[in-house]
Amino acid sequence: MTTAAPTQTTSKDYAQLTALLREASTIGSIGGLLGWDQETYMPSGGARARAEQASVLARIHHDRLTDPRVGELLAACESDTALNAGGSETAANLREIRRDYDQATKVPGDLVAELARAGSEAQDIWKQARAKSDFAMFAPALTTMLELSRRKAECLGIPEGGELYDALLDQYEPDTKAAEIEAVFNPLRERLSAFIADVTENGVPPRDDFMSRNIPVGQQHTFGQAVLEALGFDFTAGRLDVTTHPFCSGMAPGDTRLTTRYAEDNFADALTSTMHEGGHGLYEQGLPKSGPHAGTPLAGSVSLGIHESQSRLWENFVGRSAPFWKWALPLANKHFGSTLSDVSLDQMTAAMNTCTPSLIRVESDEPTYNLHVMIRFGLERALVRGDLSIKDLPGAWNEQYKNLLGVDVPDDRRGCLQDVHWSFGLIGYFPTYSLGNLYAAQLWETINEQIPDLDDQMARGEFAQLLSWLRTNIHQHGRRYTAGELCERATGKPLSADPLMRHLERRVKPAYGM
Ligand code: ZN
Repeated sequence: MTTAAPTQTTSKDYAQLTALLREASTIGSIGGLLGWDQETYMPSGGARARAEQASVLARIHHDRLTDPRVGELLAACESDTALNAGGSETAANLREIRRDYDQATKVPGDLVAELARAGSEAQDIWKQARAKSDFAMFAPALTTMLELSRRKAECLGIPEGGELYDALLDQYEPDTKAAEIEAVFNPLRERLSAFIADVTENGVPPRDDFMSRNIPVGQQHTFGQAVLEALGFDFTAGRLDVTTHPFCSGMAPGDTRLTTRYAEDNFADALTSTMHEGGHGLYEQGLPKSGPHAGTPLAGSVSLGIHESQSRLWENFVGRSAPFWKWALPLANKHFGSTLSDVSLDQMTAAMNTCTPSLIRVESDEPTYNLHVMIRFGLERALVRGDLSIKDLPGAWNEQYKNLLGVDVPDDRRGCLQDVHWSFGLIGYFPTYSLGNLYAAQLWETINEQIPDLDDQMARGEFAQLLSWLRTNIHQHGRRYTAGELCERATGKPLSADPLMRHLERRVKPAYGM
């Protein structure tokens, strides 16, 4: 432990520096609010004006981040030995401020503004194209976003021994290279494929007909809110709304917005989406946003892989477990009337742990999920390299779904138009989803060692000790440590795929009578 080192060292320069960053962060949070509004309540007629607003605001934000005064103060702080005492929070914050400043100053303001404008417009076009299942309608906007993203990557620079894609990946998972992701994904793909083949060929699929029973949206919403409250989500500092593509925006201290979606014949999709975004929200609410580091990098999340580990932990490791359902099934019956009253705990748990290759990533089960991610990683990497052209994307997508998941993609809505990410220019983002699953599995094993009666607690609807563990080991640190360091500090080991495979064996095989 290095927490005994000084944590509150400060100086006049440091105070001025953090004040400037706090202001920039506040401007960024207004952008978060605009984005949330665009996804939830903005009428479609507002799309053009919103793109303009997003673009102007992105430029102002960028101007603040790259203000020469920030560079001067940062340099002064870096030469102040008291501020850089080993292991202090201030030293860690300066390291991260330097990282952000260097990245921001590499990208011209015009490009930042253009990416924000084009991304906002492309997102709207994607929404219409997806509804009509018309890839040709989206292709020009996607071509623009890919081109702008490549230009941004060139500004950021290719890391030594790396490729252009790494510059984009680095924004979401710092200091990680595509080749390293590939080295993790290749053996994992083999293990998952073998696991899925074993289960689907040798197991007996559990009964799941009751999962499509009709449950009114209002009942699903009050149930989801009750679950979130029990997990510890603070509704005085957050909200839950409805969108096409669920997300979480920790836009400001004391203001974390979650969204989910409802289908009357698929209550589990809404519940898992709500718990997933709730996991992101709990992380956001646990970050040190209102203390001395407010508005500085230290108050932010360390990487998207770690962020996703928090959402997947609550969604899957908690939300698909028998102890959780021991508590949640009676609660569901309270909200859903008699709709599920004939379903036993064993039946519900088994139905939550199926293994069926399917078309839609966000609806896929745990064993098949990472294969969806691997397909996107391979395709976007090929797009950035120039090995794949936009017009060939649907064909390549469909071919890989056939090869890896064995499913025929009937239309682009259920194929390459299903995810919002590329329309925003979020290229290099997908692999962090699978890293999140690996981190979550490894954290879960350690948590269960350190809280031996966690199952009993969950069966009583008690999640406070679990949340407290996450607060202590993950949330409160913000960006103080790298993702890899945080994992090692929390679990004592570097990241490995073994815990995830052990988890799938324990969870899925019993559901198939194996
Ligand atoms: Zn997520």
